Amino acid sequence: MKVVIIGGGIIGLSSAYYLHQSGHEVTVIDKTDMSSNCSYGNAGYVCPSHFVPLATPGIVKQGLKWMLNSRSPFYVQPRLSWSLIDWGLKFMKAATPEHVERAAIPLRDIAFISKKLYEEWAKLPQFQFAYQQKGLLEIFQTQTGGDHAKHQMEKAHELGLTDTVLLDKDQLAALEPQTRINALGAVHFQCDAHLYPNKLMQQLLADLKQKGVRLQANEEVTGFENNSGKITHVKTISNTYEADAVVIASGSWSREVASKMNVKIPLVGGRGYSVTLEDSPYKINYPSVLIEGRVALTPMDGNKIRFGGTMEITSTNTPPKMSRVEGVLNAVANFYPDFKVPMPAIDKVWYGYRPCSADGLPYIGRTKKWNNVVMATGHAMVGLSLGAGTGKIVSEIINEEKISMNIAPFDPDRF
Ligand SMILES: Cc1cc2nc3c(=O)[nH]c(=O)nc-3n(C[C@H](O)[C@H](O)[C@H](O)COP(=O)(O)OP(=O)(O)OC[C@H]3O[C@@H](n4cnc5c(N)ncnc54)[C@H](O)[C@@H]3O)c2cc1C
Repeated sequence: MKVVIIGGGIIGLSSAYYLHQSGHEVTVIDKTDMSSNCSYGNAGYVCPSHFVPLATPGIVKQGLKWMLNSRSPFYVQPRLSWSLIDWGLKFMKAATPEHVERAAIPLRDIAFISKKLYEEWAKLPQFQFAYQQKGLLEIFQTQTGGDHAKHQMEKAHELGLTDTVLLDKDQLAALEPQTRINALGAVHFQCDAHLYPNKLMQQLLADLKQKGVRLQANEEVTGFENNSGKITHVKTISNTYEADAVVIASGSWSREVASKMNVKIPLVGGRGYSVTLEDSPYKINYPSVLIEGRVALTPMDGNKIRFGGTMEITSTNTPPKMSRVEGVLNAVANFYPDFKVPMPAIDKVWYGYRPCSADGLPYIGRTKKWNNVVMATGHAMVGLSLGAGTGKIVSEIINEEKISMNIAPFDPDRF
């Protein structure tokens, strides 16, 4: 089968990997050179611990409080945009305790599928992306943060993540003897892993190219041709590609791409920033999330440390805001008092747009409208973690094989 994948982020490339393995003739089209999308500068967590979707009652309340703070970790830029209003209304409706409860099992299941696949990749000679299974620390400074952490641990145990433990201040200090941490304690999700996303992406691209997957860079998909309920051709400004099946893996632009084939998916971009010290003078052993600061720190690939955070719901054309980066670095300094990371120049700051669905669950599956189109997008904060698993599921859908898990909660037509 000729399969055309729109988008060369982790979701598109993982799908290409498994579709090629199943014997299909695969073309990946991307409007960029595929070297700097959201799948590069992220925190690199492969994290079954992230079983709570973005849409929670807490984030709505907190988001409203943070609206006017330019350094806050969550921000919705008010805009007169129908797609944003539509997304916002659906997001608020979805953000219920019942939804959080329902979302946990599918998020856990796809994360474990994905993690197992990354473990397989990490053993292959073409992949050396600094995969490490050390777990993830969620560090808290306040009693409220500690209560939240304890609740997360209990929930993790209920979901079978039994190797999740609560650490007090001294136990946390013992795990990180090389630096001071200003905190009351942490939860250690031992099931989590991390990797260096930049290497993963570069090696995936090289592997696919070497195997003969067509990688069409710098071509924007502008439209489609159809016949008898199927998309038959994918059009770019310079080419038209014949397709037996199409995968929409266009990250934060998936709503626009889908709308060109009259498919509606509520989705917005959630911008986040990261700063990477290539040769860090500071040492940490474990990736960590700073609960009150909403910031992620990851030691990566030898001597690197990456600091990342903020969720800024904004248009993909708005210039980056350095005050958000300042907010990230302030939170780091607050938790790690020895870390004196100076504000970098703007060209040293990476930012990317997380594709945020309206309920925090990804859209994975066929659309009712076109029988040969598979959506694979909307992974928000966990696209890297769920990347390999999503790719495998996309190939199972197209091959009409038994699917590794129940994907009904990810139905792209659910709104
Ligand atoms: C600061 C930060 C930290 C993060 N940390 C983590 C983490 O630790 N773990 C985790 O799991 N996730 C993390 N994420 C989220 C993760 O990075 C994303 O969920 C993931 O990268 C999304 O992958 P994607 O393939 O869907 O999108 P992308 O990587 O954005 O790729 C989409 C591609 O589609 C292309 N495209 C769009 N429109 C068109 C078109 N019309 N024609 C052709 N091509 C098109 C784009 O050019 C782009 O290359 C983080 C994100 C941020 C911002």
